[in-house]
Amino acid sequence: MNFIDLHTHTTASDGSFPPGRIVEMALDAGLKAVGVTDHDTTDGLDEALARGAEIGLEVVPGVEISAEFESGTMHVLGYYMDFRNHDFKERLTALQEGRSDRNPNIVRKLNELGLNLTMEDVTAEAGGGQIGRPHFARAMIRKGFVATTNEAFDLYLAKGRPAYVDKFRFFPVEAVKMILQAGGLPVLAHPGTLKMSPEGLESVVAGLKEAGLVGIEACYSDHTPEMVKEYMRLAERFHLVPTGGSDFHGESKKEISLGKGRGDLAVPLEFLHRLKDRRDRKSVV
Ligand code: AMP
Ligand code: ZN
Ligand code: FE
Ligand code: FE
Repeated sequence: MNFIDLHTHTTASDGSFPPGRIVEMALDAGLKAVGVTDHDTTDGLDEALARGAEIGLEVVPGVEISAEFESGTMHVLGYYMDFRNHDFKERLTALQEGRSDRNPNIVRKLNELGLNLTMEDVTAEAGGGQIGRPHFARAMIRKGFVATTNEAFDLYLAKGRPAYVDKFRFFPVEAVKMILQAGGLPVLAHPGTLKMSPEGLESVVAGLKEAGLVGIEACYSDHTPEMVKEYMRLAERFHLVPTGGSDFHGESKKEISLGKGRGDLAVPLEFLHRLKDRRDRKSVV
């Protein structure tokens, strides 16, 4: 069978491998296509697409947008949008400014907690890409304050922990619309992180479908087989395309492998065919 991975992060955001390298790794792993979905930026896409064309691997241009949501974490993936679209770029800029407003406040909180760390230490870890909390974690490891990324999140950076600082986000419907308006396909990422009951999730999905949601990320590194079944059923019920990906970040999330997730992830190429049918507006799912 043919497999793909539609959810990866590069050095354009908080992944540790450059976009071109991820594409090479996907080819080496035997995948038939790889989606690049950096947080709040499309800066890695040109390089990924170019490398894909050179080595003969299908690259799906994408993005991952954080949305404001009352429980858990909501991310909306976008695929095939025109990432040079003016309004789309402007909205990404707003999200990027949200990061630059937040980041010094995380440093301040860490300083108050006695961790001697500067914004420069964190910037050095990011190498010019969008700065996310995994870069803080890496800087904290380098300085010897924690041993692992997970420890950095569990003790300091995760929601509810003492150095957590919120950042500007769009509401879910706005995130869906910004992707649609740029001609892209919005997909609800890792529904498990919403921490909703099946009934609650169903009403969230119904609302997003109303706004134009096209897909739901059924297969994901942290989804149990039961969760995958639930999300596949939701996809069917709401005529959404099921998608899937590992959320590969390289060194920032060592336990997740490209294409394979925690070892047993297998996202069929057929999901991508269905997604492209939607893009070409010719199919009923
Ligand atoms: P940010 O976009 O800066 O808020 O950071 C979000 C990123 O941090 C996510 O995409 C993950 O890569 C990572 N992350 C979030 N929560 C955790 C956690 N509890 N443990 C490890 N990594 C996490
Ligand atoms: Zn990330
Ligand atoms: Fe995510
Ligand atoms: Fe992600």
